Amino acid sequence: MVKGRRLYEGKAKILYEGPEAGTVVVHFKDDATAFNGEKFDVIEGKGVLNNRISEFMFTRLREMGLNTSFIKRLNMREQLHKQVEIIPLEVIVRNIAAGSICKRLGLKEGERLPRAIVEFCYKKDELGDPLVAEEHINAFGWAEPRELDDMIHMALRTNDILSGLFAGIGIRLVDFKLEFGREYSPDGMVRTVLTDEISPDSCRLWDMKTDEKLDKDRFRRDLGGLVDAYAEVARRLGIINDSNPGGTGPKLVKG
Ligand code: UDP
Repeated sequence: MVKGRRLYEGKAKILYEGPEAGTVVVHFKDDATAFNGEKFDVIEGKGVLNNRISEFMFTRLREMGLNTSFIKRLNMREQLHKQVEIIPLEVIVRNIAAGSICKRLGLKEGERLPRAIVEFCYKKDELGDPLVAEEHINAFGWAEPRELDDMIHMALRTNDILSGLFAGIGIRLVDFKLEFGREYSPDGMVRTVLTDEISPDSCRLWDMKTDEKLDKDRFRRDLGGLVDAYAEVARRLGIINDSNPGGTGPKLVKG
């Protein structure tokens, strides 16, 4: 695969020009950061697992009819995406209280929320990605009202699909972060598409029986065993197994 020039380097991924116009190559690094970049480490193998897990998630969502930028996985660390214009918002969906909402609202970690809650954060590293209201998004024009509707609808649909998928393998989807972009088609249409990644870096995943954390909180909280936890998620999804690295599909875990 011939990559073009480097377009952008983020905390965990690098974006290159793709082989054809309108495509980008996403490269998954092993770098781990938390607390807006204050905590940093290189965790060997993380990028490879996130590449595979994110491919799996985007493929399932695409099968369910969601518009995504994902085209295909290229190799161990890279995938091909349609080039989109990033909407400068992080869309967070929460099912169970954890992380920042506990501090903000005085909730106990692990409390089930009355219903799925969608939050928006403005993507601005210098400000630490602050939580914003729809009012701010409209006033500052970060997204059109139609795009806001699309994002909420697609985020909740993603939540339903992924909650079911993870429940089937004995994992609770506590919360997750999505990013969206605008896809401009030659006929002048603009579509809202799901982009970025969906991996244990961007989700909170707890084992249903033991409540063990199988996500980036292992790094944030110095629990260790991050790669083992991500590999366990990949194994349960049927993406990797010792005898068949190609994967066999998810294995149902009976409660
Ligand atoms: N999240 C993310 N990137 C961010 C912020 C949050 O992927 O820049 C994910 C995080 O992994 C969790 C969810 O979004 O699954 C909610 O995160 P929260 O607001 O609780 O923030 P945190 O506790 O991670 O600071």
